[in-house]
Amino acid sequence: MDEYLIQKQEILNKIKEYESIIIVRHIRPDGDCMGASLGLREILRDSFPQKRILSIGQMKSSYLEFLGSEDEDVSEDVYKESLVIVVDTATSDRIDNPKYQLGKEIIKIDHHIPVEDYGNINYVRVDLPATSAIITDFYDTFKDELVLSSKASRYLYTGIVTDTGRFRYRGVSGHLMHLTSLLLNTNFDIEEVYSNLYMRSPQELKLLAYVYEHFKVTENGVAYFLMSNRIQKKFNVTNEEAAALVNSLEGIRGSLIWIFFIQNNIDKTWRVRLRSRYAKVNEIANKYRGGGHLQASGATVMNKKEIKSLLKDADLYLKTFKENNEGVF
Ligand code: AMP
Repeated sequence: MDEYLIQKQEILNKIKEYESIIIVRHIRPDGDCMGASLGLREILRDSFPQKRILSIGQMKSSYLEFLGSEDEDVSEDVYKESLVIVVDTATSDRIDNPKYQLGKEIIKIDHHIPVEDYGNINYVRVDLPATSAIITDFYDTFKDELVLSSKASRYLYTGIVTDTGRFRYRGVSGHLMHLTSLLLNTNFDIEEVYSNLYMRSPQELKLLAYVYEHFKVTENGVAYFLMSNRIQKKFNVTNEEAAALVNSLEGIRGSLIWIFFIQNNIDKTWRVRLRSRYAKVNEIANKYRGGGHLQASGATVMNKKEIKSLLKDADLYLKTFKENNEGVF
C-alpha cells in the first residue's frame, strides 16, 4: 500500500477541479525546481488539454536556459481563480512569485525537511531526493489518466540528475531508478541534457584550478573557500558560475563538511553553500538565515566576522561528530 496515495489522490482531484493552474517554484532556480515546474506543466497540459496550465517564476539561471522558458506572468484576476502549485521549497519566503498567495487554493509539493505548511495541501516527500522524482512518482501512480511525453521527461530527468549529483547522493534507491526508467523510456536526448549541464568555459576551469590551489581546511577538517568579488572579477565569471564550483571540495579525505562562501556583487553579503557526507549541515545553516537538506544546505552571512563564526560552529560540530564516530570514516 502506497502510504502517500490519499494525498496524491487529493491533489489529482484538485487538479481536475480547476480550469486554471499556475505552477511556481523557488528563487535562484536550480535544475530540480525548474524540472519539476516545467515537467508538471507538460504532464498536465498533455493530460488536460482544455485547461490553462502555466509555469511562472521571476529569477532566471542562465545555465538552465537550454531547458526552455516558463510562461509570461498573468493578471491578479487569473491567480484568484487558479489552483497554485508550489514546487521545491520548504518555506514560503523562498517562493519566486509574490502573487502565489492570491491563488484560490495552494498545494505545496516538496522534498525538503518540512518547516512550514503554507499550502492547503502539503505533500512533502523527504524520502525522495528531488521534487522532479515526486512529480514522476505522481505520474506513475496515475499513469492510466496522465500523459508523460519525452518533453516532460527531459525536464524531470534534468531535475533528478542535478539534485542527486548524477545518482550519487543519499536518497538514490531502487524506487528512484524505477521512476527514472519511466522517463528514459520516452526517448528524449540524454546527450543534449548532459552537454548543456556539464560544459564549462575555460575561465571556469581556470578558477577551478585556483580553488584547488587555495582552499583551506579548519583544524578538524572543514574544507572551505571564500569566493570574493575580487576573485570572481579576476577570473571573469558570474556569481552563478562561481557558486557552481562548490562540489570541487567534495572529495577530500577527512573533510566531511565543505563550504563555499560566495560574495554577492551587489550587497556584498555572502551566500553560503554547505555540503557534507555522513555529517549533517542543516542545523548550522539554520543558525545563519538558511536551511535545506541534512547534507546540502544554504545560508547567508553578512560579513567576514560571521564567516569566522560559522566556520567555528562547523569545526566544533565536526570535532564532536568525529569523536562520536571514531574509526568509522
Ligand atoms: P544551495 O547551496 O543554494 O544549492 O542550497 C542547498 C539546499 O538548501 C537547496 O535544497 C536549497 O533549497 C536549500 N536552501 C538554500 N538556501 C536556503 C535558505 N536560505 N533557506 C532555506 N533553505 C535553503
